[in-house]
Amino acid sequence: MKKKQVEIYDTTLRDGAQAEGINFSLNDKIRIAERLDLFGVHYIEGGWPGSNPKDMEFFRLAARRRWRSARIAAFSMTRRKGVAVENDSLMRQVLEAETPVVTIVGKTWLLHVTEVLRAKPDENLAMIADTIRFLKDHGKTVIYDAEHSFDGYTDQPDYALDTWLAAEKAGADAVVLCDTNGGRLPSEIARITAAAVNRLACPVGIHTHNDCGFGLANAIAAVESGASHIQGTINGYGERTGNCNLISVIPTLHFKMGLRGVPQKSMPKLKELAEFVDEIANVRHDPRQPWVGQTAFAHKGGMHVHAIDRVARSYEHIQPEAVGNVRRVLVSDMSGRTNILMKAAELGFNLAPDAPETRAITAKVKDLEAQGFEYEAAEASLALLIRGVLEHNPELLFTVDAYHVSMRGNAASSICEATVKIRVGDKIHHTVAEGDGPVNALDGALRSALARSFPALRKVSLTDYKVRILDGVAGTAAKTRVLITSSDGKREWGTVGVSENIITASLQALVDSIEYALLDA
Ligand SMILES: [Zn+2]
Repeated sequence: MKKKQVEIYDTTLRDGAQAEGINFSLNDKIRIAERLDLFGVHYIEGGWPGSNPKDMEFFRLAARRRWRSARIAAFSMTRRKGVAVENDSLMRQVLEAETPVVTIVGKTWLLHVTEVLRAKPDENLAMIADTIRFLKDHGKTVIYDAEHSFDGYTDQPDYALDTWLAAEKAGADAVVLCDTNGGRLPSEIARITAAAVNRLACPVGIHTHNDCGFGLANAIAAVESGASHIQGTINGYGERTGNCNLISVIPTLHFKMGLRGVPQKSMPKLKELAEFVDEIANVRHDPRQPWVGQTAFAHKGGMHVHAIDRVARSYEHIQPEAVGNVRRVLVSDMSGRTNILMKAAELGFNLAPDAPETRAITAKVKDLEAQGFEYEAAEASLALLIRGVLEHNPELLFTVDAYHVSMRGNAASSICEATVKIRVGDKIHHTVAEGDGPVNALDGALRSALARSFPALRKVSLTDYKVRILDGVAGTAAKTRVLITSSDGKREWGTVGVSENIITASLQALVDSIEYALLDA
């Protein structure tokens, strides 16, 4: 049986770009649109022609491209009050965008018509109808976004319905009910969408915002009541708390409702799409994002992990690979030996469950975690720890015999200087380096001391540095945990250091990072 189709309408580039801290360049918009097209969404709303030159330029470029699955939409509003549609500059701009689809927002709520627009109820109906008819006459597919649909319907259902019927009669290809303020409950969305579906012959869509955390739930409630078109944004970007998150909508339709949104073959690329758009927007990935977050299939706790090991599916709502995610087993102070065994296997060590080494490693991890170490993001440090136990304290490639860090500055600037004395075999290297911070200077001094003996280090660089102050227990000083991420251009690894002193903690993490790089080099 063919699955019922739900249209996916992406507004990341228009509604999503309203989010605080998000600003897309023209090139960003093109790159995101290309990805969305490859992924298989049905509509890409590019912006509002006339609102700024960047959006107009986007449409100019978009018009010359061939799109595989998506149709590009330009956003605008109903004609102005008291102006003939053909004379309205908004309409001229929207036609200049040369998109196959135009989305028009108009008023549903009588309160807004009379108080905000200061128009008569009938004039608003005429504004909706004239605009849609004008665009249909110009050969456009017209999506009608009915602003404040649910607030309007709750206030005056007959008038709200009249506005939707006016849009349909004028030729709208879909009437999209909008929870513009994001304040409605799923049950209200379901009831009002059902009423609209009942009265309208054209497809009904849904556009929700996440102000109560119901952005996704409200969109799904509407689909369950007969809506067949969903508007939303990638990763839920949008004004205030954001829009309905398409990254959750898409797998929910597919895996939970047996409906068809994007093509099946795109599902394993879901995580990649979410991360790509975050990267372009320069937003950190939300580790707890449903479906695609780093923790979405992470398991912690001895008993539980033991079960996962045997029956992976028993603790997961879907297979992580189905959306491009991976199962992760966390090592933590809650963990039993099974976690360590699985983690060791992931890192390439083969441990027997009852071997004395396994017990020794588990005990050591627990002890270090009690001191403030954390290995969930520091796999390289854990690998070194396991190796240390298995190989009975193998000889180190280098040791730091002494180090010194100082800082000098004035009101305008400051500079740090680090000196290290390093032993490699029977050679001693003594180097000094400057940096804009103590860790930077220390890193520079370590590298220049080691570069001659280990040329592979030239490719290694720090990509992230995080510091967390751990609460001191009564009577003791607070500790500092430093997490470092390093990269050699091909892979990334994390290391950790803990001390009452931030420099010492940083040095531990840096030394682990270099050791790990050299081990695998
Ligand atoms: Zn919106």
